[in-house]
Amino acid sequence: MKGMAYLVGAGPGRVDLITLRGAELIKIADCIIVDKLANPALLELARKDAEIIRVPKRIGPGSFTQDQINQILVEKALAGKTVVRLKGGDPCIFGRCTEEAILLNEAGVDFEIVPGITAAIAASEYTGIMLTDRRYSSQVAFITGHEAEGKEDSNIDWNVLAHFPGTLVFYMGIGTLPTISEQLMANGMSAETPAALVANATLPTQRVVRAPLSGIVETCRREQIEPPALIIVGPAAQGEAGLNWFMRKPLFGRSIVVTRDADGNAEMAQKILARGGRPVEFTTMTIQPWTDRTEFLQVLAELTDHDWVIFTSPNGVTIFFDAIGRFGKDARVFASIRLATLGTKTAECLARYGIKADFVPTVFTGRDLGLQLMSFADLRDKKVLLLRSELASDELVEVLQQGQAQVRDVSLYTAVPQRGDAAGLEEQIRQGRIHWLTFASPSSVRGLFEQLRPDAVNAGTSRVASIGPVTSRELAQFGVRIDVEATEHTIDGMLDAIENAERP
Ligand code: SAH
Repeated sequence: MKGMAYLVGAGPGRVDLITLRGAELIKIADCIIVDKLANPALLELARKDAEIIRVPKRIGPGSFTQDQINQILVEKALAGKTVVRLKGGDPCIFGRCTEEAILLNEAGVDFEIVPGITAAIAASEYTGIMLTDRRYSSQVAFITGHEAEGKEDSNIDWNVLAHFPGTLVFYMGIGTLPTISEQLMANGMSAETPAALVANATLPTQRVVRAPLSGIVETCRREQIEPPALIIVGPAAQGEAGLNWFMRKPLFGRSIVVTRDADGNAEMAQKILARGGRPVEFTTMTIQPWTDRTEFLQVLAELTDHDWVIFTSPNGVTIFFDAIGRFGKDARVFASIRLATLGTKTAECLARYGIKADFVPTVFTGRDLGLQLMSFADLRDKKVLLLRSELASDELVEVLQQGQAQVRDVSLYTAVPQRGDAAGLEEQIRQGRIHWLTFASPSSVRGLFEQLRPDAVNAGTSRVASIGPVTSRELAQFGVRIDVEATEHTIDGMLDAIENAERP
């Protein structure tokens, strides 16, 4: 069997700036050989059994030479594997892609090259430094700064660059920045020419500094700019006032701790990243399904006895359908039963299993759900089944019982506390490096504050966001100061509330 090699551009940093083609190939690969610059989160797309080989090309232990990488690539492909060679940015822009492709070709391995967004383009568009503009830059040059250090075999013609009527972008140039600026000026470029450095482009840690060419070395040193960074030289480096849309986002660069279970955290982290923030994942609990209990099996057998079933969380819906799927059952178990959900997220989750909920109130607490449901349908003497977390509050049950419904409350799952690096988090809070701590449920509150002193938070500069009144009550129990409470009690609602608090 003959393998296949894909030389894939991972994009400049932000995980979703890869191409659809690139993401599809990561999903099917047997083996992924990955550079340091490719976002590690991309590997979450990979098959669980995929072989991941990390090949940093730095000096020191665990680093790889280009020859070693070439060899692994060819070997894996010849062994019949589908190999993805994942490289930061575009695979061919200063990516040694040519070498790898030539070797694959010589070895008789088929290959495909998947372009990616190269760092220069991303850095430009994420900072408002436009590489081309009809007013001042009709040409762009991408240059490797790696060769700048007085190499005999350097292909860089400083005289040409110094007189280049457009924008220069140097990759890998932080180390050689003094040489770059000196050579440009020595060859006739004006010391006043605008220059800029963009580090960690497209990530929440993105930084940009500007100075005239003669001052850029000092500025870079003072601001402690570290790789990966690009150097942009020319009128364009001035930037367009008002076009730095990314760094202007209210959550840009804000460190936000998420405190749910691992899946919930991953989902929330994506939302934070999309708003320019830096998620810090702290897992406080694991979701433990109770669907192997007799109680669940019994309720499944008696499901059709009920008039209404209420789901109060997406977790509950997923756990329920996973469990009945194992018995070869599907959405038809609900054929004659009416369904209500707490929150549109739960309803959307149910819709994924082909069920349109009969009632989705526009409220977020169990109490309000109960009240609205009773004004929507007559529940007197009706059998209502709640399928939810063991830790859910009793309010919903009480309200429904007051309305004369016959309530059966079945736990589909519980949250088991999990310990994390609380000391590490406390230290970050103390150093002022955490801007927000977020709490999406009372279990999250308990999960965190059973391992972190509330005073560590109250004494620091970190602010606290709560998803709603039930969670706020739990925070108050622990004596934690609350800075914002979401008006809409969803994850998005909580992030909106944080954004509002951050707006100047
Ligand atoms: N193939 C890559 C470039 C590899 S060379 C691409 O197309 O982008 C590595 C250099 O790319 C780094 O030294 C830095 O100059 C630049 N670079 C890569 N990612 C970057 C980022 N997120 N922000 C700024 N520069 C980046």
